[in-house]
Amino acid sequence: MPPRKAVTKRKVTSNDDHDDSRDGAGDAYASGASDSDEVFAPGLSTVKRTTSKKKGARPKRRAADVSEDSEDDFAPPKKSKTASKSRRKARKPKKLELFQSMPLDVLALIMSALDTKTLLAMSRTCSAFRSLLHSSQGTSVWKAARYNTARIPDLTAGDLEEWMYASLLFDRTCHVCQKARADTVDYVLRARACASCMRNNSKQKNKMSLGYHSQVWDCAPESHWSPGFETYTFFWVPTVAFVSRRLYELKGKDGFDAFVAERKRIKEATTVDGQQLRNWDVRFRASKITYEWDVKTSRRQKIDAKLKDLGYTDNEIHYSSVKQHSLYNQPRDLTDRIWTTIEPKLVAELEGYRDIVRQREQAKAMKARGEALRPYYDGMHTALGAEARSLFPPFGNWLHLESVKPLYEPEDAKPDDVSYQAARADIKAECDKFASQIQTVFWSRLVKAHSEADGQEVPKAMPVSQLKALAQRITSAINCPNECCSTFATFPSILDHFKVCTLSALTDTSLYTSAAHVKAIRHVVAAVDAIEPERALAKSATSAALNSPDLPSLLYTPPQPASDGVDNPGGFIVNESEEK
Ligand SMILES: [Zn+2]
Ligand SMILES: [Zn+2]
Repeated sequence: MPPRKAVTKRKVTSNDDHDDSRDGAGDAYASGASDSDEVFAPGLSTVKRTTSKKKGARPKRRAADVSEDSEDDFAPPKKSKTASKSRRKARKPKKLELFQSMPLDVLALIMSALDTKTLLAMSRTCSAFRSLLHSSQGTSVWKAARYNTARIPDLTAGDLEEWMYASLLFDRTCHVCQKARADTVDYVLRARACASCMRNNSKQKNKMSLGYHSQVWDCAPESHWSPGFETYTFFWVPTVAFVSRRLYELKGKDGFDAFVAERKRIKEATTVDGQQLRNWDVRFRASKITYEWDVKTSRRQKIDAKLKDLGYTDNEIHYSSVKQHSLYNQPRDLTDRIWTTIEPKLVAELEGYRDIVRQREQAKAMKARGEALRPYYDGMHTALGAEARSLFPPFGNWLHLESVKPLYEPEDAKPDDVSYQAARADIKAECDKFASQIQTVFWSRLVKAHSEADGQEVPKAMPVSQLKALAQRITSAINCPNECCSTFATFPSILDHFKVCTLSALTDTSLYTSAAHVKAIRHVVAAVDAIEPERALAKSATSAALNSPDLPSLLYTPPQPASDGVDNPGGFIVNESEEK
């Protein structure tokens, strides 16, 4: 994450004349050692050393910095009063500037109400905030923020400044290579790193190069990892290098024992801190989940209430896609500003749902009006002779006739006797047209199929009696247009079956046959005849039956209503009365 880099740069340049050793500290970090004393933050960038070194002199200077910054950057009221009107209009203070021009104690009070992650982000927004939060004045603010963040414990080791501590807990960048999404953190080693940097920098003692000071292992924090029965101990390489270098430097000098004692204390304390932080981590994650759940619930309730105020019902909110909308389920509480943004989108969802419901209701009402015409359909159907009855359109097609539509389609249509009688003649004419059309289309397909199956040319004309005879042949049987049905029958008997088989309408391609179809039936008939010559399907046919048009025709009898008391399940019957 660039913020820390930017902070580092600025810090170094602004203080160049104060402390030359700072650049050296940066280099030393790279080489695994440092010339700064006592406070070494493994894995943290040079900024940390800069700030820690200047501890004594900082508070006054920082306070001045802050006031200077505010004077330079944000025009104080006095200045703006003296400025001309036009200039004042041209220079409109930005939001952040207004915030920064606030008195320091008020600002500190506001910051104390934040959580650590927000405060960390705030410390990177501008130099004034950074100066304040990196100074000793900021310590109490950080402490308050830690308390607000599931009570982050105090560090007993005292080896990290507050902002470094916050960075260790909440930054998501690798402290070594600055890569984003570095989720591996070791609280004892004070290290957050990407997987590869963690692998390269946290090592076991026996896997590190020789040459380190012999006492370094007692002075550097060690982290324990127990995946199974064994426990592995890891050291952070940069820390080991730094401590070892200091030990060599102090060898035989006065400060040596004090340094060793202090490092041992830090080592013990980091272990205690590590355990405390692991406990906090569990607590924090749990509280985060609870918090998000609470916020989501609150947001949903508030949105529901707002939508109800707009006139939408519980059912509409519940059954529309609003409940699944990402804007409805975000883990962020609803504010007026958020509501203004999301309201149009949620309302659009609900309006879409209302449209669908409206259409469904209209379709349902129309269907009911159509159903009310059923007695008129039945009356017209049964009044016909056998052949005409077969060719009479199924109810689904009947409803689609132009003369029938006005009886039920308009919302104010009344499918009653008066309107039916008025349209009756037109309906009858359309039914006849339907019958002749469906017959013509099927006959032409049938003739083509048979001609192709026999390898003959398709005749241009054929007498009606011949066409009817052709349609009655077993090889002319076709499948019921209902895809779920396996019934076969000849035309037009198949239509009688279709009317009781399904409520759907016929389409142009419903009644279909082809040369392959004709040949297939011939093949099946031949096979059946070979097995059961006595009951041959082609009983009355000659030996050349398969290639001749002399196969017996089959009649299809539709199932009779139960009230007739006739035991007739319907099916194929060989038409024995047919003249050969
Ligand atoms: Zn890395
Ligand atoms: Zn069927």
